[in-house]
Amino acid sequence: MAKKRTSKDKKIQSQIALNRINRLFLLAENKALSGNFSIANRYVSIARKLSMKYLVPIPKEFKHRFCKHCYYFLLPYFNSRFRVHRGKLVIYCNNCKKYTRIPLK
Ligand SMILES: [Zn+2]
Repeated sequence: MAKKRTSKDKKIQSQIALNRINRLFLLAENKALSGNFSIANRYVSIARKLSMKYLVPIPKEFKHRFCKHCYYFLLPYFNSRFRVHRGKLVIYCNNCKKYTRIPLK
């Protein structure tokens, strides 16, 4: 008989998922800085899948590190543009040529 999953197991699962998401984003940044964007994008997609599977939100500091349209890893100056315009942070993705606007408080 399969072991029944308890809420404690779920808590541990989501904690592990969160740790992996954090680690994947740090690795993605390292890879992107060394010019390996395809691996960085792969890490972003794995992190997204983990976050969806275990219902863990992506941490605030990494939320705007990838394009919300094409899910590419964004590195300012190299493949994206971060500007402040009329109280909003405007992120331009060089890959899909789309804008993301985030209100600043
Ligand atoms: Zn994009």
